[in-house]
Amino acid sequence: MMSGPCHILVITKKEATDAIPHWKELRELRESVPDEPKAEKPDRLEGTMETESILNICDVQDSVEDASRQLAFFFPNFYIKKTDQKVEKTLALIRPSLLKERRHSIMQRIKDDGFKIAMQKEIILSEEQTREFYKEHENQDYFPVLLEQMTSGPTLVLALTRENAVAHWRDLLGPKTVEEAKKENPNSLRAKYAVNNIPIDQLHGSSTPDDAQKELQFFFPQEHTLALIKPAAAKKHKDDIMQKVKDAGFTISKIKEEALTREMATQFYKDHKGKPFFEELVTCMTEGPSVIMVLTKVNAVEEWRQLMGPTDPEVAKETSPESIRARFAQDILSNAVHGSSNREHALKSIECVFGEIDID
Ligand code: GDP
Repeated sequence: MMSGPCHILVITKKEATDAIPHWKELRELRESVPDEPKAEKPDRLEGTMETESILNICDVQDSVEDASRQLAFFFPNFYIKKTDQKVEKTLALIRPSLLKERRHSIMQRIKDDGFKIAMQKEIILSEEQTREFYKEHENQDYFPVLLEQMTSGPTLVLALTRENAVAHWRDLLGPKTVEEAKKENPNSLRAKYAVNNIPIDQLHGSSTPDDAQKELQFFFPQEHTLALIKPAAAKKHKDDIMQKVKDAGFTISKIKEEALTREMATQFYKDHKGKPFFEELVTCMTEGPSVIMVLTKVNAVEEWRQLMGPTDPEVAKETSPESIRARFAQDILSNAVHGSSNREHALKSIECVFGEIDID
């Protein structure tokens, strides 16, 4: 073993627990076909294979325990990602009293526990929103206090991600009420972050992955916007722009390639009717096929506008050099892309182009 360099491999298979039996199988297979053509053999094993089996030239661990020991010996910093735990999203609420008193501490705790914040917003819930969100609790005797608490100031709404996020966040929160939490699990977050004299616990977490999806949709609804790659850019930069759309996490819910009619272009830009550039704009928009899409994402209208960049490409290059217009616009008229300016415009334009606004 000390006569020259060894080649040490860490072999990984998707289902990690199968790696050892699978490797053994390969080894047996290899031993049973000694006469395969030379050319197909890996260079390094050439010359040895005829007389020795792989068993003799490779040192392979027989058990997960042995493998772990040797991994730690040769690769002390090797980190095996646990593949049986999915990265999930869960909803967390930091209620008004806690947010007011210990925002920094609870945010630090969340990060220390390995959560990433995928989305966040701070809102003062209306009575109507609170009743809607907590409709299953409406008949409980604690409901009036809950309603009073939830509408008393800003709540911080967080979409948290990590492996097993739903169960992990709920485990950290502990028992459902402050009283139970203090008695049964004083280290739980609901016990530690209880606010004096307030009987309502200050932290919420989704109960199941299904609930998490519904609750996230309640606070961070998906939005649709109409996005269009203008004719000149559709001809030259379609693939690059589509890549940017995907990289930014938009779902392309609908897509078609066609030349806009003058009627459609006039509908898109009706607010500009009468301006000196209007006729030229309509001509530029109808001179060839455009790529027309419905993009879907939380906050899609605003995010697509951010990704497009300012209307004038010269300004875009100055202020948002990574935006689509900074990179792919020709001039202010052929400025690569179009996007709805608000949700109402988005729905109207989607209906105008695709004939419906009913999108999954
Ligand atoms: P957008 O939402 O960023 O596309 O901007 P607007 O809705 O304000 O304008 C629609 C399109 O009209 C823009 O994308 C430009 O192509 C064009 N446009 C807007 N302002 C001007 C201008 O001052 N001069 C010229 N030539 N074209 C303009």
